[in-house]
Amino acid sequence: MIKINEIFYSIQGESSYVGFPTVFVRTSGCNLRCGYCDTTYAYYAGQMMTAEQILVEVKKHATPYVCVTGGEPLVQDEIFPLMTQLCDLGYKVSVETSGSIDCARVDTRVKKIIDVKTPGSGECGSFAAANLKFVDVNTEFKFVICSEEDFAWSENFAREHDLFSRSNVLFSPAFGRVDEKWLAKKILSENSSARLQLQLHKYIWSPHSRGV
Ligand code: SF4
Repeated sequence: MIKINEIFYSIQGESSYVGFPTVFVRTSGCNLRCGYCDTTYAYYAGQMMTAEQILVEVKKHATPYVCVTGGEPLVQDEIFPLMTQLCDLGYKVSVETSGSIDCARVDTRVKKIIDVKTPGSGECGSFAAANLKFVDVNTEFKFVICSEEDFAWSENFAREHDLFSRSNVLFSPAFGRVDEKWLAKKILSENSSARLQLQLHKYIWSPHSRGV
């Protein structure tokens, strides 16, 4: 059984799958407490569901894209076989994870969106170094930038670990804290190789809407 906060159908707002109609499977629970967290409602609330029940919900929608998110999905052991099952069924699966848990048990067919928590998150230092093993084209490293200091820190981290040439590196402005124009100009003026990522869903719908 997996504790699920919500399952919903919407437009993918992040990653290289941005814009695709996607079924989101949001698990309940997270081991971190980022200062900018926009899914605090997923910390505890949810209902226990079997893999079969989850698949019934996923199959209601005519899209090949499924995004497993949270909370932190990897804190629940049964999420790993569920992702494998989805891949076996032909879905294009992605997982959004905080970076604090080793992704070794994630099926290699799953696109991993791995956060690297910056100083401004309040959870800097939570990154599991083991996740550097997964620097490849099927992994995207996401940095939520809260300040000038976060930008410099993220650039250093990405360069030090040679992320830019081997993976997608996403810089996302902390919503409501950092202006996206400032971050766009910063990426250009610093000759960064990061990709600017806006959370598309927050621009399409209300920034505080759930289930989008
Ligand atoms: S890892 Fe994600 S869900 Fe967990 S506290 Fe941070 S932003 Fe929220």
